[in-house]
Amino acid sequence: MNNDVKIVIDAGHGGSDPGAVGNGIYEKDYALKIAEYLNNRFKELGVSSVLVRSTDETLTPNERVNRILSFYGNRPDVLVISNHLNAGGGEGAEVIYALRNNDTLSKLILNNLGEEGQLIRKAYQRRLPSDNTKDYYFMHRNTGLTEPIIVEYGFVDNAKDANKIKNNWQNYAEAVVKAVSEYKGIPYDKSSKSDTYTVQRGDTLWSIAKKFNTTVDELKKLNNILSDVLSIGQILIVK
Ligand SMILES: [Zn+2]
Repeated sequence: MNNDVKIVIDAGHGGSDPGAVGNGIYEKDYALKIAEYLNNRFKELGVSSVLVRSTDETLTPNERVNRILSFYGNRPDVLVISNHLNAGGGEGAEVIYALRNNDTLSKLILNNLGEEGQLIRKAYQRRLPSDNTKDYYFMHRNTGLTEPIIVEYGFVDNAKDANKIKNNWQNYAEAVVKAVSEYKGIPYDKSSKSDTYTVQRGDTLWSIAKKFNTTVDELKKLNNILSDVLSIGQILIVK
């Protein structure tokens, strides 16, 4: 039904580049969690989507762009969602869109993030100082004809934002799913939204898997975790 919609989902940074770090948050980790959430949800909605990275790997801008353009080709109907967290003393969410696109999707996303309780900063374009006909960010400048957006969900160095990101990241990711669905005319169904579980004292991956009728391997895959060590208060996707 949604064969014409193609979505490339990027998790910013990774590997030796942690991105922004603050208040116990590494940008690269949340970027990947959010990207995986988006990828799972778009698949549930019957949309073709793909992750640029699915592990904690280092990618140069060129490697990242080459992957992005390799999945569905260099076409204007390919949506590229690059997921990031901000730093630098602000508060709230921003979406940056390319000079070749309009702000429709960016505004839908910010509006939905606002409904989920995040502060809305702005949707904007940014030009390269040395050549203002070009985009500032390689994610916009070097991604051909595609429609790329950079979503900055909040500021890791702002304690309020950091707490919101830790507790609400799935709702924020869902806000993006809803916005993209509206923008691309995808019938939106919230019912299959992932279920989560907050780790309690004494829990193990095995006990949680048993509780939710799944397996340790599946839990690790869903949450992109490698080790068996859980921390109390950690939020796991269980379905
Ligand atoms: Zn970033």
